[in-house]
Amino acid sequence: MRAFSIRGLDIEVLLDFLSEKYANVLKRIWRTETCIRAVFVQNEMAWRTVSEQAIIVLVDHDVDTNTCATEVVATSGGAGWWRWSLGSQDEAEDTFATSLAELAHVRGWQYEGTFPQYAFPRAICPSCGAIYSYRREQILDGGSVRCQNCDKPFVIS
Ligand SMILES: [Zn+2]
Repeated sequence: MRAFSIRGLDIEVLLDFLSEKYANVLKRIWRTETCIRAVFVQNEMAWRTVSEQAIIVLVDHDVDTNTCATEVVATSGGAGWWRWSLGSQDEAEDTFATSLAELAHVRGWQYEGTFPQYAFPRAICPSCGAIYSYRREQILDGGSVRCQNCDKPFVIS
């Protein structure tokens, strides 16, 4: 998951951008006088794993302050040949962050991106050697996590 805060934006331009690039499955926009909330879902084939993944974008725009909180989560649909991510979901979130930063730069919006805080950065899987970061909520009962590459559980020391 990646989160972004954008100020001084034209919300309609952002919604158009997301409608065009991230809404092949779902686009819902709710408008009130004080806020605009929106959800976009894009399904794509991750060629690295020959499996589908979904990219979910949430928008929460405060009209009075013209501030927009946006989040993106890429997640595996579980369909296809492999369930493994092999980094393709991180890559999808990176791609999203890059395009959003470019849009903000071109339009002169104030843009700030944040990474989630990882409780366990750079943990090494003893089975396959893959190094990934894990958040506290990813810890399973018994103190293990599921490797994001090979899907085998291991205990984080
Ligand atoms: Zn592994």
